[in-house]
Parts: sequence; C-alpha cells; structure tokens
Amino acid sequence: MTDPIRKVVIVGGGTAGWMAAAAAARFLDDGQRQVVLVESDAIGTVGVGEATIPPILGFNQLIGVDERDFVRATGATFKLGIEFVGWDTGADRYMHAFGGHGRDIQGLAFHQLWLKLRDRPGIGGLDAYSPSAVAARLGRFGQPSGTAPLAYAYHFDASLYAAFLRRHAEAGGVTRIEGRIIGADRDPENGHVRAVRLEDGTAVDGDLFIDCSGFRSLLLGETMGVEFEDWSHWLPCDRAIAVPTEPTTPVLPYTRATARPAGWQWRIPLQHRTGNGHVYASTHMSDDEATALLLANLDSAPTADPRQLRFKAGRRAKMWEGNVVALGLAGGFLEPLESTSIHLIQTGISKLFALFPDRGFSAVERDEYNRLMGDAYTSIRDFIILHYHATRRDDSAFWQHVRTMPVPDSLTRKLALFREKGRIFRYDDELFGIPSWVQVLLGQNVIPVGYDPVVDALDADRVADALRQTRAATLRAAEALPSHADFVARYAAFVGV
Ligand SMILES: Cc1cc2nc3c(=O)[nH]c(=O)nc-3n(C[C@H](O)[C@H](O)[C@H](O)COP(=O)(O)OP(=O)(O)OC[C@H]3O[C@@H](n4cnc5c(N)ncnc54)[C@H](O)[C@@H]3O)c2cc1C
Repeated sequence: MTDPIRKVVIVGGGTAGWMAAAAAARFLDDGQRQVVLVESDAIGTVGVGEATIPPILGFNQLIGVDERDFVRATGATFKLGIEFVGWDTGADRYMHAFGGHGRDIQGLAFHQLWLKLRDRPGIGGLDAYSPSAVAARLGRFGQPSGTAPLAYAYHFDASLYAAFLRRHAEAGGVTRIEGRIIGADRDPENGHVRAVRLEDGTAVDGDLFIDCSGFRSLLLGETMGVEFEDWSHWLPCDRAIAVPTEPTTPVLPYTRATARPAGWQWRIPLQHRTGNGHVYASTHMSDDEATALLLANLDSAPTADPRQLRFKAGRRAKMWEGNVVALGLAGGFLEPLESTSIHLIQTGISKLFALFPDRGFSAVERDEYNRLMGDAYTSIRDFIILHYHATRRDDSAFWQHVRTMPVPDSLTRKLALFREKGRIFRYDDELFGIPSWVQVLLGQNVIPVGYDPVVDALDADRVADALRQTRAATLRAAEALPSHADFVARYAAFVGV
C-alpha cells in the first residue's frame, strides 16, 4: 500500500513555477490531489529567459498547448540555432544550428566523412549540410516538402509565457495564492517542510514542496540548508545588463551571441521587440562600462531602461532534499549562452514525475533524481565552458584567463579525443548531441589532426559525389521556404499584450 501525496505546494510563479504547475495540472489531475502555487507580485520574477532549445516543443505538447495559440500569445518567433560572432579570433562567426547535418553512412558519423573530404572542390563547410543552418542564414523558415522537418525552438517573451502557462494551469485546477513567504514550519522528527508561512500569518501546508523561488532558493537553500556548489572559477560571468529594443526587421530565426571583452552580448528577436543583454564578469568590467558597451551595440532603439541582473554559476549540491524539490534558479544557474535554463526546468519536471514519490519519500527515488539532475547540469556546464576555453582570443585579461584556465577533466578528455581523430561520444542522458559538439568545436577552431580510419574503407569519390548532392539539395530545400518574417505573420501574428 502506498501513501499518496495529497497536496503539492509550488513556491514561486516565474517560468519554473508555472511550468511545474501546468505539468502538475496535466499529470496530477486525478481528483485525489490538490496543487497550489504561492507567489508574490511584490517580489516579481527574474523576467528574462527568452531563448529555448528544441525539447521545449515536447513540453508544450505534453501539457496540451496548441503551437499557434502559444506563438500568438507570447510574441514568439522560431529559432533555428545560435550564431556565435567573434568567439575564436574576434573576427569570426559560426552557427550552432539545431538538428544534424548530412546523413551518416554505414554507421560513420557524417562529420567524419566531411573531415576526410573537406578540401575537395564543391564540398564546402560543414554547416552547408545542416538544414537549420542553411535556412537560418537565408532568414527562411517553414516545413520543407520532401525532406525532414527543420529542427527548431522558440524565442518568446518570458513574462507572457508565464502568463500563458498560468491560464493553462488554473484552467487545469491549480490554485494560486498571492502572498509573501516569510518562513517555513518543519517536522521536528524528519526535518520535512510542513507548511510555508505568509506575511499575513496564513500557513500553506502540503506534502511535497516544489521550490521555484528563484535565486533566493527559499526552501532548498534557506530552509533545508543545501549548499550551493560554486562553478564561477570556470564560468566567471556573474552579471548581465538587459534592455529591450524596437523589433529588428526582418525578424531573423536565430539568436546572436557576440563575444565582448569581458563576456558576450545576446540578441533575441521576438515579434514585437528584440531582447538584448550583455553578460559579463564583474571582476573584469565595471557595470557602467558594461551598460555603455551594450547601448553602443544595439540594432534598434531601446524601449525601456537597462536593468541589471546578478548571478553566480553553479548548482545546489542536491536538487531534492527531504520533501523539497527545487526547479529553475532555486536549483542552480548556468549562464544563458546555450539557452539551457528553461530546458533544465523541463528536465527537472519530467524526472520528478518519472520518480514521483509517495508520502514515504523513498531515499532511492530521491538519490536517483539527484544523480540524474547532477549529470544534466555537469554536461551542460562542460559544453558552455568549451565556448570560452577553445579560443585564440587574447585581447583582454578576461579572454586570457578563460583560454588558459584549467577546465574539468571531463572536458579535457573530450577535447583531446576530438583533436586526434574528430571522435566525440554522447554520454548517458547528455543534452547536447554529437552535431552540437562538432559545430562548436570546429566553430572555435578545434580542428582534428586526422579522421576515423574506418572512413578509408569507403570509395572516396562516390562519397564526395553524395556529399555534393546533399549540399545542393539542402540549399534547394531552404530556398523553397518562405521568409521567416512572412511565415510568422501568416502562421500566428502576435495578438498584443
Ligand atoms: C541574464 C539572464 C538571461 C537568461 N536567459 C535565458 C534564456 O535565454 N533561456 C533560458 O532558458 N533561460 C534563461 N535564463 C534563465 C531563466 O530566466 C530562468 O531559468 C527562468 O526564468 C526561471 O526562473 P525561476 O522561475 O526559477 O525564477 P524567478 O523568475 O525569479 O521566479 C521566482 C518566483 O518566486 C517568487 N518568490 C520569491 N521569493 C518569494 C517569497 N518570499 N514569497 C513568495 N514568492 C516568492 C517570485 O515572486 C517569483 O514568482 C536567463 C537568466 C538570466 C539571469
């Protein structure tokens, strides 16, 4: 006999809180359980987090969201990848596009064939074989006929997405409580949280508490005392200045990440505005300099004052302790370079439902959750460090530091293996697959000395012909698509706030 959870309390109503609430409305809606969400309008949300990666499509489908409704309501655009500008020498650019390139032949990864044949006439760069990269460069979007669908994600307005999810969650039975939490009552025997206490004296009790309280980590960090593992020695950026601007035309289907002397700048095109921000290391640049640099490098006029955000890279040593599970910023933070934070919320939600506890709170389930989430953070951490470390830039103290700093062993191993023969492996549940690693490694000038010798068993001329045909077909398919701006306007124009 199990002793089921009867009441779930979600603390916080940012992206994490409302994603958890929308998922709970879908999966816990059996009439047996109550789900409440407590948030404080006076505190507000972090209000950024506008670029996503393809698994978000799965989350939206899972909670029953219609894509057109969602795009219309959140001012969303389609995202085919990220263009990185100036990350290797300062004068370079490359695309980390979603999806793969080409087709593997006889079990050999496509990039291995390309590595051997890349100097032959008509072969071109690896990105010429990525449908998403080619369409992005042309500013096109749509569903190509006769070829595989494009891999894509979205740019959207974070506050509108939270509001959209709130409507879903409330329609699904989640109750919202407005109020500022000032403390938590704990069971003296096992230390579990029994209730959160609001400023007006109300106690909100529950069996399972999902901490989505943002950087403050109200329950996991403050109440349960789970320590923060600091990764800022690998990821020294700790501040951002964000500013919205008028929409840029044409609205492009990709994020741009431009390297700056002490960090980088994002440009995220939405239908009704562009999101911009400058992420920097405060040890290498003052706030005034960072703001001035951002304002001097905008494509259109600002529509609000710049706003500063402070953070630290790292994560809580455990994401689940007792009857508290943290999602979003309450559990950890990796800077937004590869748009992974919202994805980590989604990962946390799906693993929580896969290991959903009863009131016995089994240590086995909790430990497995912590192991899986620990791995998810670590593998993304390494991928982000790669962007900083694999560079030839030495034009500022910041770049000299990140280029020469020791990196985690797991990344050192990956780099060494790739440098020899272009080999790369996807471990366990790692988020970023081989095409992602290959694009960033090559984009940052980590060029393998050789290639997998098994490639030599194939007829090189025939493979080169196949590659040329694939390249031409990829271009034709992209050229047949409408412009991204036209597609969005026809498909689901923003309805306004
Ligand atoms: C500069 C920057 C850029 C980013 N860009 C991206 C991106 O492009 N893509 C991406 O995926 N992610 C990005 N992120 C991360 C993303 O913003 C977050 O992961 C996401 O918004 C989730 O935030 P949250 O819900 O955990 O926290 P928050 O938005 O901070 O929400 C916290 C909630 O808790 C409530 N709360 C807190 N304390 C109390 C209290 N005492 N009582 C009651 N309620 C309380 C607040 O009212 C609020 O509702 C970015 C983050 C930063 C800092």
